[in-house]
Parts: sequence; structure tokens; C-alpha cells
Amino acid sequence: MREDDPLLSVSDLRMHFPVREGLLLRTARFNRAVDGVSFDIAPGETLGLVGESGCGKSTLGRCIARLYRPTAGNVTFAGTDITHLRGRALMPYRRDIQMIFQDPMESLNARHTVGDILEEPLIVQKVGTRAERAARVRDLLDIVGLPARSASRYPFEFSGGQRQRIGIARAIALNPRLVICDEPVSALDVSIQSQILNLLVDLQREFGLAYLFIAHDLAVVKHISDRIAIMYLGRIVETADSEDVYAHPEHPYTQSLISAIPIPDPHRRAERIVLAGDVPSPIDPPSGCAFHPRCPRVMDTCKRVRPALAQSDQGHEVACHLGAEEPGS
Ligand code: SF4
Repeated sequence: MREDDPLLSVSDLRMHFPVREGLLLRTARFNRAVDGVSFDIAPGETLGLVGESGCGKSTLGRCIARLYRPTAGNVTFAGTDITHLRGRALMPYRRDIQMIFQDPMESLNARHTVGDILEEPLIVQKVGTRAERAARVRDLLDIVGLPARSASRYPFEFSGGQRQRIGIARAIALNPRLVICDEPVSALDVSIQSQILNLLVDLQREFGLAYLFIAHDLAVVKHISDRIAIMYLGRIVETADSEDVYAHPEHPYTQSLISAIPIPDPHRRAERIVLAGDVPSPIDPPSGCAFHPRCPRVMDTCKRVRPALAQSDQGHEVACHLGAEEPGS
């Protein structure tokens, strides 16, 4: 891996789940949860991935962490194509790529003590002696701001924010290089959300972590992301630097998400763009631009031709027939 190579490169990634129907449970159709996604993440960078529930963002995260085997496309990590690795060959990448989940209570084994939970990844990866692992558990608790005595307690004895700290401690136990944060603050009170976001920022500074930060709310990713990718029905529709996305959203879907962010100034009123209908089913996506049934600026072409992600005048990557230049033009 050269110095300027991305840490993670995702290329035309697809995850299509078979839908079994009828008495014989034959596969006649597919749920196209992820349908041709490409992006890079540099070492130490945070990419915010935002979209409504059901748009495929969590499935994409799980494909990258290789909890799923993608249907097609490639996941390249630190120069190695890991898309089809299995078993032992995948072990080093299980150390390097970790996940933090939305609901720590579901992801933490309720019958194990916090000490056991934090030691488990070290045992699986055969790291250290028993004494060294115990010392590492104490270190991890200290890093995430929990007292050492937490090691002998059980997850149910902690608050939601403290449980997420335990989930974060487990995720960094093996010194990963990329952490996929799947809605890590969505289930928490607003006051606790900022504490957890600050902790993630501190850990990134200290350990040089790269993050794929998945959220359904653009306001949450604003301060943590270097770049933001907006996802709609299994595809990325806009990518740009974080500030640019908020200041000059180009895709009509991004514009509607931005318009939903409350403005903390009582003298200013933003015009809210309310979209008609719900996200369509990824089993039977609309023709042409998948956003066309809800788009306030839809044209005839949009119903027939699917727009490719292309560089815009403002330097965003946008999949829309309005104003985007064709690749190579
Ligand atoms: Fe709207 Fe057409 Fe752009 Fe799709 S391609 S977002 S339908 S204007």
C-alpha cells in the first residue's frame, strides 16, 4: 500500500438478497439492498453515510466488515481485495475493521461481564497472556471513561451511554484501522449523543482511526465527517466535502434532507422540502432515477434513464440529470 492509497476502496459493490416466494419458496426476485456503490476512505478520514431507514446503508457497512459476502463488486482494504476471503485469510481484517452498533444492549452478551466482553476479541485473535489481556481491559475502560470496577459488572447495570462506551471499547480492543459506526448515537438522548461523538473524535485523534459513520440524520454527522455520502435506495446519489454538502446541496434528495435540519436561530426560517411518499421497495425499484416518484424537480428523462454519479461544476459527485457533467467531459 502506497502512502497516498486509500485505506478502504469500495467498487461497484452489490448485495442482492434472494426473496423466496410461493409454495416452493422459489427465488423469483431479489432485494437490491446495495446496488452498485463505489467510494474510498483515506487513513484517518471520516466518511458520513446518510440516508433514510431501509436505503441499504447498514447492509453496506456489514458488507465492508465482511459480515455479509457481497453479491458482486469489490472491497479492497489496505491494498488487498478482501471481498472473497474466508476463514483464516480473513482473520487479520477482522482485527483491522471493527463495528460499533446502534443498540449496544443487543450487541453485548448480557450474560457475560464487561471484562469478559472486552477480553473476548483478544482471546479470539490470540493476543497476549491472561495478565496482559486483563491489563488491556483496564486500559480500554480508562480510554472510554469507565472505572476499572466496571469489568466485573454486567451490561444491564449500565446506562445507554455507558453501554455504548463499552461497545466502543470492544471495537478498539484490537487497535483497528477502520471502525464502521452503524448509527452509534441514534438510540441515545441528545445530551449523551454529543458525549459519545466527542469520545469518537478523541479516539480518532489519538489512534488515527478512519470511520465510516452511518446515520439517518444529517445533523448528527455534520461535525464528525470530513466527507459525506448520501444514499438512496441502494445507491449513492451525492458525495462531497462535509461543509459543501451543507452549504450547497445539489441533489434534490440531499436538498430535502438539509431542509429538514432545524435552524437554531428564531429569526431565520428555512423552507422545508417535504417529499411525497415513502422510500420505494428495493425489491421493485422505480425505473430510471429511483428518486423520480418523490422528486420535486422530476423531468421526463428521469423516468427512463438512470443518472450516473458524475462530477458537478461545484466538485460534488452527483447522480442527477440536473446539471451534472458526464464523466470525462
Ligand atoms: Fe430528480 Fe431527475 Fe435528478 Fe432524479 S434525475 S433527482 S428525478 S431531477
